[in-house]
Amino acid sequence: MRALIISDVHSNLEAFDAVLADADACGGYHVVWFLGDLVGYAADPGPCIARLRSLQHVAIAGNHDHAVTGKLNPDLFNGAARAAALWTAYQLTYDELAYLAGLPEVQTVGDFTHVHGSLRDPVMEYLISEPAALATFALLATSFCLVGHSHYPLVWTEREGGADVALLDVTEPLLLDANRRLIVNPGSVGQPRDGDWRASYLLYDSDAGDAGILEHRRVKYDIATAQRKIRAAGLPESLADRLARGH
Ligand code: ZN
Repeated sequence: MRALIISDVHSNLEAFDAVLADADACGGYHVVWFLGDLVGYAADPGPCIARLRSLQHVAIAGNHDHAVTGKLNPDLFNGAARAAALWTAYQLTYDELAYLAGLPEVQTVGDFTHVHGSLRDPVMEYLISEPAALATFALLATSFCLVGHSHYPLVWTEREGGADVALLDVTEPLLLDANRRLIVNPGSVGQPRDGDWRASYLLYDSDAGDAGILEHRRVKYDIATAQRKIRAAGLPESLADRLARGH
């Protein structure tokens, strides 16, 4: 079984479509595992929802999905994110809002637990510190945890009394071992923040290795079109600018 693992699309249809095309060219996939924040920031919320729903998929909610459906107060966001959340809410149909509102916060798929933020705070906590990683490992009931939210492609491993983190490497597939628990973030499709503007994602192949492998990929997309749409929609200029910087 092959899964396409993606997170933080953030209404960036150009990046989303580039990832889907790249994954198809790399052998395809049977199912999409989506880790939250389908909308917010960029200008194509409806088309991104339609694209995901057109594919075999399982999905969870992120903080931006919650902000658009009223489950989270957008005043908790910075100015640009709040403006995008309010704009997005007006673009969506009742059916699209109902789809987002129906997404769970945590989901288990085989030996993988999916959550946008962390297991102790599913949509808000950034899993970028050792205490946060240890807290999620303590709550983890499967071998592997897949997260999003920070927009950093990284992997946490456990060691005696602590946890270590490393950025994912596109040249080295991650061999999974059910006895070595991991927390893995595929990075962001629509708004990478690790200094690399290319869309970031993972392909999972359950038939390779012992417990499968994860392959990290980066893919270029039509950033100029995504930026033009953000500006044409009247969304904050900073949301277009940051796509090119990759943070
Ligand atoms: Zn996000």
